[in-house]
Amino acid sequence: MIKKLNHIGIAVNSLTDHISFYRDILQLKFVGIEEIADQKVKTAIFQVGETRIELLEATAPDSPIAQFLEKRGEGLHHLAYQSDNIERELQFLREHNVALIDEKPRGGAHHTRIAFLHPKSTGKVLTEICEEKR
Ligand code: ZN
Repeated sequence: MIKKLNHIGIAVNSLTDHISFYRDILQLKFVGIEEIADQKVKTAIFQVGETRIELLEATAPDSPIAQFLEKRGEGLHHLAYQSDNIERELQFLREHNVALIDEKPRGGAHHTRIAFLHPKSTGKVLTEICEEKR
């Protein structure tokens, strides 16, 4: 079952160009920077209520974020909903003909497990389901 909006991913060309806006102007709590090697992404994380804002910078030219930036430029990249059981969530979505990018959960930032749904099933919004470590 989906419990809350876990985080919002925003694609940027450079984390350092944007951290000060979120940290010093919006004055969100800056949690830190984390690198997710297998996704070729570096993320600057901010906490706002129960939700995080994650700025996403590519660490390689073949990173999904680099491809997104090339096609669409900087901006909103994805919404991530937190589930209490990601396997059950994916199974339910599959049964309801939702197109999945990830058939199985994989490792995400903050020791979460994540899976992406295809934007063609979600009104063109890249959507992630995540589960925090149980
Ligand atoms: Zn995410």
